[in-house]
Amino acid sequence: MIHIENRNQCSGCSACADACPHRAIRMVPDGMGFPYPAVDPDLCVDCGICDRVCAFRPAAGPAGAAFALRFPAYLDRSQSGGLGYALMRKAVRAGMAVYGAAMGADFVVRHVRVTQEEGLEPLRLTKYVQSDTAGIPGRVLADLKAGRKVLFTGTPCQCAGVGALAGARRKDLLLVDLLCHGVPAPFVWRDYLRYVEKREGEPLTGALFRDPALGWHGAKEKLCFGSRSLTADEYASLYFRRLMMRPSCLACPFASLARPSDLTMADCWGVEKALPGFADDNRGCSLLLVNTEAGHAFAAHFDEPLELREVDIDAVMQPNLQAPTQAHKYAPLFERLYLRHGFPFVLRHFGQASWNHRIASRIVKFKKKWLAK
Ligand SMILES: Cc1cc2nc3c(=O)[nH]c(=O)nc-3n(C[C@H](O)[C@H](O)[C@H](O)COP(=O)(O)OP(=O)(O)OC[C@H]3O[C@@H](n4cnc5c(N)ncnc54)[C@H](O)[C@@H]3O)c2cc1C
Ligand code: SF4
Ligand code: SF4
Ligand code: SF4
Repeated sequence: MIHIENRNQCSGCSACADACPHRAIRMVPDGMGFPYPAVDPDLCVDCGICDRVCAFRPAAGPAGAAFALRFPAYLDRSQSGGLGYALMRKAVRAGMAVYGAAMGADFVVRHVRVTQEEGLEPLRLTKYVQSDTAGIPGRVLADLKAGRKVLFTGTPCQCAGVGALAGARRKDLLLVDLLCHGVPAPFVWRDYLRYVEKREGEPLTGALFRDPALGWHGAKEKLCFGSRSLTADEYASLYFRRLMMRPSCLACPFASLARPSDLTMADCWGVEKALPGFADDNRGCSLLLVNTEAGHAFAAHFDEPLELREVDIDAVMQPNLQAPTQAHKYAPLFERLYLRHGFPFVLRHFGQASWNHRIASRIVKFKKKWLAK
């Protein structure tokens, strides 16, 4: 039976829970909100199915072709070049069930199933938090068993889990993963929003992790209170400094060009240098990796106008296609203090405005100046 000895060996994909024929596994959040499987020994018959379905290991397969592309009509409401939305739209139009991450009215990010084009809107844009996939691999399998084709979008580990559970029905499942830097803690996101509501004295009515209105390179969150909104980077700064990552992200087996999916979507960072004159207006550009024949067949044609160029992958290489994200040296301390004292405390000590951060930034600036001499 599944036994998690080290928290960095489980991505929380939920595949084992949905694979268990005796319903002996529940996904239970730890103190940071990261889900882990918990086995009920009274229900478990030690059949080993959960161990066999776990796909938290490197994917096999050669790297495929890479393309820089964007859909001009989708740029204002997409995170990169609108590739994710275009793929999902094509799939629902073809009668497939689409799965992706949506933020609910309670600001919790969960995977949902969509079969109508109108339902795709909440799946657009990046959510920098682990999406809850409890029960989702099983729903995908149920769709496949019912003869419905499926397009699943998610992190590579989520795709690997869904693909493993699909087994022989994998041929009717199109997996689209994202190039993944790692997922931050759901409870930190929840507590951040509570903190902001208290500070502003108003309930939140909307939130975006990366506001596309600030341009493609912008990495700030937008928080809405009715007709009023504010831009902040308190949460983004904790994320990009790698202080609150899921432990498995720091040992991620999917940080490579060998993907567990048919297609990979990403930001095409570096496109300005790799393809001068192409998509250099800060409005967004996607990177598409075509990993399988099935992926190639699906992405070979789109109805909507698009700008597309083949690109040398080495010219737009990203750290997370080569190695997992490195933990911040204070990440364990961040977690300990968060669990003991709560969000406002860690924000005071690790946030942009904290003395720790200001002193560390000064030291970095000084070192850069000194090295440049
Ligand atoms: C946690 C995280 C880390 C990322 N790290 C990188 C990186 O290091 N480098 C890089 O180039 N790109 C990264 N991306 C991907 C990038 O930010 C865009 O999401 C991606 O390029 C798709 O943009 P788009 O315009 O094509 O899609 P859109 O049309 O905006 O659609 C967004 C798609 O992303 C999926 N999605 C959004 N949030 C989540 C989530 N939390 N979990 C699972 N699926 C989600 C949705 O289901 C949807 O299919 C990351 C995304 C996430 C969620
Ligand atoms: S060993 Fe079998 S019964 Fe036990 S938790 Fe795993 S799948 Fe369920
Ligand atoms: S990685 Fe997924 S399948 Fe493996 S133990 Fe964790 S939740 Fe279960
Ligand atoms: S970094 Fe790896 S383990 Fe973490 S969410 Fe992404 S694919 Fe999963």
